[in-house]
Amino acid sequence: MSSNKPKIVILGAGYAGLTTARRLTKQLTPEQAEIVLVNKHNYHYESTWLHEVAAGTINPNQARVMISDVVNPNRVRLIYDSVVEIKKDDQTVVLENSELTYDYLVVALGFESNDFGIKGMSDYAFAIEDIDTSRLISEHIEYQFAKYNNDENATEESLHILVGGAGFTGIEFVGELAERVPELCKKYDVDRSKVRIINVEAAPSILPMFDKDLVSYAMKSLEDRGVEFRIGAPISECTPEGFIVGEDNELIKAGTVVWTGGVKGSSVLGNSGFELVKGKVNVDSDLRMQGEENIFVIGDCSWVWNKEADRPYPPTAQLAVQEAAVVAANLNALLTNGPLTEFVFDDKGTVASLGVNDGIGNVFSNYKLSGKSAAAMKKVVDNRSLYLMGGPKLVLKKGKVRPF
Ligand code: FAD
Ligand code: NAD
Repeated sequence: MSSNKPKIVILGAGYAGLTTARRLTKQLTPEQAEIVLVNKHNYHYESTWLHEVAAGTINPNQARVMISDVVNPNRVRLIYDSVVEIKKDDQTVVLENSELTYDYLVVALGFESNDFGIKGMSDYAFAIEDIDTSRLISEHIEYQFAKYNNDENATEESLHILVGGAGFTGIEFVGELAERVPELCKKYDVDRSKVRIINVEAAPSILPMFDKDLVSYAMKSLEDRGVEFRIGAPISECTPEGFIVGEDNELIKAGTVVWTGGVKGSSVLGNSGFELVKGKVNVDSDLRMQGEENIFVIGDCSWVWNKEADRPYPPTAQLAVQEAAVVAANLNALLTNGPLTEFVFDDKGTVASLGVNDGIGNVFSNYKLSGKSAAAMKKVVDNRSLYLMGGPKLVLKKGKVRPF
């Protein structure tokens, strides 16, 4: 590749970064630009499946896709390294093992758990952030079961699983736990009644974005399968034993404590001195960082303003993929002196799984789903994501089977 071509550097191979790279290879000729994709690992993972990895209901490998299988390494230079800092005044990215310069930058480094400064949370609670942290949770839970009948110091609380936050991640995770716990009880000869799954939520309801009837359906379905809810109970601290909850500072003890109370953008943003609003960067409607001509920030690293609702769009994979399509088009426009496109979100709806065969959803402009139809829709969405990345072969290799 000649060195005088403009260099586009994409940071992160999640939904946003990977889609940008793939789109660019289709829209630009090799002569038009050099494309570089930087990612911590040599694999992409389906972040939307991490609750399943964390509960142990799927194998971590099912959620991973080798990047070189879905991005042509002859068109995109692949660098597997961690981004440490972006020096925008020098148009340079500092990696753990080298440095890179760029003409155009796409920041797509995704999310990290947000503990909102709650004392002890980052020290004592697990978080669902990536493949490694999610696998750690499932292995920790399994270890608690394996230990229970073989360690005289094991208490019943060691079998309890405490989940902080009943947003999408918390609810999808306890839904998977409701599937996994009976399997573990059988495997390790533990009485099911000894295991508690407790989900603590500060707000007066779980999943406030859904209508009340769907929320009631979800709560009943999960409670029927042994999930206990503590609603309207803010967690003020996490200790090595569990959460301190509510006005009377009750300590709820558990052998496994997982925080699913919210996310923020990659810490690289703050380390690079970028102006942050609630842990993310505000972008203009063309998805460029405010005040920057050549830096796009997309996916869970940025806030994109929803003019109709007068608030930012919630960060989702659906949003990240659609943003990537606009960024690829806008990079093409910048290289060819064309007009930039404004991002408009096309909301296809939302589905939350409640375990393998159950779920709730709001799709196709407010059509409500619950039960097996919602679970089936979730699997269609999951398989579609694989299809867009690697076609039918990838769906056959890693896809989700029909639930019934
Ligand atoms: P990510 O998917 O987080 O990808 C970031 C990439 O950057 C990763 O490959 C990571 O390894 C890499 N990276 C991170 N830091 C560095 C670094 N310093 N250096 C190099 N590489 C780095 N959304 C939906 O629309 N539908 C769903 O059903 C859904 N389910 C979800 C379930 C769970 C359990 C969770 C946690 C989230 C879910 N979401 C869902 C939200 C969705 O996963 C995120 O909005 C989406 O992953 C954002 O995509 P992204 O590309 O911005 O970031
Ligand atoms: P979230 O912010 O949506 O939910 C966090 C929950 O934790 C909230 O209900 C909040 O009230 C609660 N919480 C916060 N502080 C608390 C405290 N101190 N004590 C008790 N409860 C507390 O975060 P999330 O669930 O991690 O989701 C992150 C993003 O990912 C969202 O935008 C979501 O839409 C997306 N997501 C989507 C799906 C899906 O579409 N199926 C699944 C998972 C995540």
